[in-house]
Amino acid sequence: SHSVHRITSGQVVIDLQTAVKELVENSLDARATNIDVRFLNYGLKTIEVVDNGCGIAPKDYDSVALKHHTSKLAAFEDLATVLTFGFRGEALSSLCALSDGVTLTTATANEAPMGTILEMDRNGKLRNSNSKVARQRGTTVTISSLFKPLPVRRKELERNAKREFGKALNLLYAYALVPCATENRGVRLSVSNQPEGGRKTIQLKTDGSPSIKASVTALWGSKALDNIVDLDISFDVQTEKTVLRRLDQESAGVTTVKVRGLISKFAVGAGRTGSDRQYFFVNGRPCNPGKIQKAFNEVYRSFNVGQSPFIIADFILPTHTCDVNVSPDKRTIFLHNEQNLIQALKGALEEAFASSRS
Ligand code: ADP
Ligand code: MG
Repeated sequence: SHSVHRITSGQVVIDLQTAVKELVENSLDARATNIDVRFLNYGLKTIEVVDNGCGIAPKDYDSVALKHHTSKLAAFEDLATVLTFGFRGEALSSLCALSDGVTLTTATANEAPMGTILEMDRNGKLRNSNSKVARQRGTTVTISSLFKPLPVRRKELERNAKREFGKALNLLYAYALVPCATENRGVRLSVSNQPEGGRKTIQLKTDGSPSIKASVTALWGSKALDNIVDLDISFDVQTEKTVLRRLDQESAGVTTVKVRGLISKFAVGAGRTGSDRQYFFVNGRPCNPGKIQKAFNEVYRSFNVGQSPFIIADFILPTHTCDVNVSPDKRTIFLHNEQNLIQALKGALEEAFASSRS
């Protein structure tokens, strides 16, 4: 039936957090250096992401929100080494199916300072592209009433609006730290919310510096750096043949893993750390590597009783040793030989913590 189609096509967007994530990733994929995320009423009314990226070319207006349309994948082999966040062409089509309306305003360098407004229908088809508006290069995507076509899910979102907004905001903190964690590209990210009948407030703002410490300062103030040291370790992981035939040849042997970021110092007063501020990335992708996070905290606590550290940790590993494509939300990243990796990580952390102590 129609609603079954909507649900299956909506897989990639499962909550407010993943909706926002997909939009921000599209802006990063478009090489934006300025990304402005605006929530109206905690995202219940609209979610809007404004960027100064490459824009969408007129020839793509018709297909941009169709299912499986993507401009990012040249060949199937690219799947193993894909460097953009998106590549499946599912986000915009999902958002069309799962909201009350998706509107894009876009201009490439050729059209700027004249932008075109693209109104999409629920199937991702272009309904109207006849309106023009002043627009610098870039794209604005506006999602109205997320989950309106699914009344149960909409109710749930309304009931938990602030909590869901909090989760989305936490993820945006991770994106505020991404580009500096991996590449030398500063991104100015700002996030605001305007509650119904209330005033707009800025939730977070980075200054576009490519330095990770500058981003930490922008997000939490310069005092946040007092208690933090560089995290810079590398270790070898024995990798075995994996079950994925495509990856066999490359992934047998030894892989060197680097971990870059920041971590709390030892022996600080209780209460100065925050397990709620732990951000993990694999090759610059924010992710939730549960077992790795657990390993970090275990080793840290064995040196510093009862405390969990502030952590920003970007795991830099060859793309063939991890697979970001397994979960629909791409938040869960599958690591081949994870057990070996965790053992090696623990050893490297113990060594680093022990030497920083003496
Ligand atoms: P994917 O990111 O997997 O390609 P999406 O559904 O997220 O799929 O986006 C579909 C296409 O729309 C992208 O491949 C891209 O060409 C275009 N697009 C979406 N958002 C933007 C943006 N902010 N700037 C430029 N192009 C965009
Ligand atoms: Mg995308």
